[in-house]
Amino acid sequence: MAHKGILTVISGFSGAGKGTIVKHLLKAYDNYVFSISMTTREPRPGERNGVDYFFVDKEAFERAIEENGLVEYTNYCGNYYGTPRAYVEEQLAAGKDVLLDIEIEGARNIKKRFPESLLLFVIPPSAEELRRRLVGRGTESEEVIDARLRRAIEESEGIEAYDYIVLNDDLETCVEEVHQLVNAARKMPPHRKELIEKIREELKQFAKGEE
Ligand code: ADP
Ligand code: 5GP
Repeated sequence: MAHKGILTVISGFSGAGKGTIVKHLLKAYDNYVFSISMTTREPRPGERNGVDYFFVDKEAFERAIEENGLVEYTNYCGNYYGTPRAYVEEQLAAGKDVLLDIEIEGARNIKKRFPESLLLFVIPPSAEELRRRLVGRGTESEEVIDARLRRAIEESEGIEAYDYIVLNDDLETCVEEVHQLVNAARKMPPHRKELIEKIREELKQFAKGEE
């Protein structure tokens, strides 16, 4: 059965602005919730456990995999990242629109498990601006920034698998565009089952009455 809420994946190269877009959506609208991922990466300055991520060690992450506690997981630049299952399922069932900030392999796995999900890919205006944003964020070493920019080359090969590509040039415009796409997704057939069934039933009843 299709869930009541829309499950939206927001992917994009590191530094494209995914986290910023998610924060703005959560602040501006109350239909969204953010699925906090589990990761083995070290927290960045200012990041909080249980807010930005659930920061765990490798053993705890592997236990979550074994216990089938993750909807999907991957290894990104040497660390595990995964989406806890229970929260996503509970929130969708409660009618909330769940936002996932996950990379490309995770996005593919989400689409397999939740075919009615919406996959968005955020693109920065240029590679130069992407580097500027990564450097400007000031949270990674030069070495890590270079590894993430190299990873972006690989990721750029998978962009066509997404439903929509969103340009993050002006932030406000981009946030509005994402919000509109989520609202449009509510009108896709898997989310309109009741309406479709209702009109089918009415048409049949109507035809009987005409006989
Ligand atoms: P991601 O989550 O995709 O790795 P972030 O959301 O952390 O990226 O954004 C990377 C940096 O770029 C941050 O410092 C953020 O403030 C900045 N940023 C995000 N969107 C824009 C934008 N539209 N214009 C300018 N800077 C931006
Ligand atoms: P960062 O270290 O910058 O927070 O995240 C690195 C990458 O991991 C980003 O592309 C982000 O979208 C992705 N990511 C974060 N959480 C998850 C997750 O739960 N699953 C997957 N597949 N990717 C994730």
